[in-house]
Amino acid sequence: TIDTDPDTGLNPLQFLVRKNLAAKSPAAREEILANPGFGTHFTDHMVDVCWSVGGGWHRPRVQPYGPLSLDPAAAVLHYAQEVFEGIKAYRHADGSIHTFRPDQNARRLQRSARRLALPELPVSYFLQSLRELLAVDADWVPSGADQSLYLRPFMFAKEAFLGVRPANKVNYYVIASPAGAYFKGGVQPVSIWLSEDYSRAGKGGTGAAKTGGNYASSLLPQSEAYENECDQVVFLDQDRNVEELGGMNIVFVYKDGTLVTPQSDSILEGITRDSILQLAVDRGHKIEGRNVSLDEWRAGVASGDIVEVFACGTAAVVTPIGVLKGRDFFDQQPTGTLALELREELTDIQYGRREDKHGWLYRL
Ligand code: PMP
Repeated sequence: TIDTDPDTGLNPLQFLVRKNLAAKSPAAREEILANPGFGTHFTDHMVDVCWSVGGGWHRPRVQPYGPLSLDPAAAVLHYAQEVFEGIKAYRHADGSIHTFRPDQNARRLQRSARRLALPELPVSYFLQSLRELLAVDADWVPSGADQSLYLRPFMFAKEAFLGVRPANKVNYYVIASPAGAYFKGGVQPVSIWLSEDYSRAGKGGTGAAKTGGNYASSLLPQSEAYENECDQVVFLDQDRNVEELGGMNIVFVYKDGTLVTPQSDSILEGITRDSILQLAVDRGHKIEGRNVSLDEWRAGVASGDIVEVFACGTAAVVTPIGVLKGRDFFDQQPTGTLALELREELTDIQYGRREDKHGWLYRL
């Protein structure tokens, strides 16, 4: 059961559940779960909640997964008033299903929404939306090694109006997609392309929000990375400080055991990064959030002061960075063992193989 929201005093929403009569057969589902890939298959149901000025959050539903009906003038299609989240559900050995620090995703969705002039979904409604969806689609959580069910909550301006102002009608949805092991055959270091011509975010911009436009603007530099035979792109700010990758945060490990990560109000505050840094603190490491210039990175690697560099995010968890490539340089990165040790520790907690000391798991 879901309690009254301690912050807001709100009672749970009363969801209407409409079962999908054309749901996939168990055999079809099992075939997908045997080899889910990422982001191409979806579960049988989705959450749909309306919001309007005056009406607040209303008409909460779990309904068959399927196309949305959208007015061509819907504001999101023109002005990109949209925010989203990404979070995984893990099946433990005893069959139970857990997600990881969903309160953090709920609060980040609220911060993103505030920046995009969208309504802030109460944390308890966010948690309830995940539980309502899992209540009907639990069989879609795979049980294979490193598999999960990726949950994608999102919210956008649905009002049909071409004026430029915050929309008066908004919908919140949750869809879910089974995800296979990100790395088959072991974690592979990634190569990173330094984006010199394009930035991801500016001061006062939307860099700290999880909003579609940030990803739209990362696509061209990401293509440039592929053309240069790199897997991912890293962005700098105006002062040539390192920000983050297109969809992951970055962490530098120094010789003295300190973990340093860029701190800036224009990067997305990753929940994986926060958790990894906490696990490092538990092991006695020092952590620092501060500016790291490109020069400091390159000089640190050259001198041996930096002993490991890794990226982290929900999808790939932790990925060592093997190479940094720019227009006129190619820096091999040092490799250590800390990134992979922290990765294992975190995934052990997520999959219930290790004690959850920080109370990060949330049973769905
Ligand atoms: N930065 C960006 C731009 C991202 O899209 C993500 C993925 N959500 C992250 C960092 C990592 O965030 P998290 O660890 O919460 O997945």
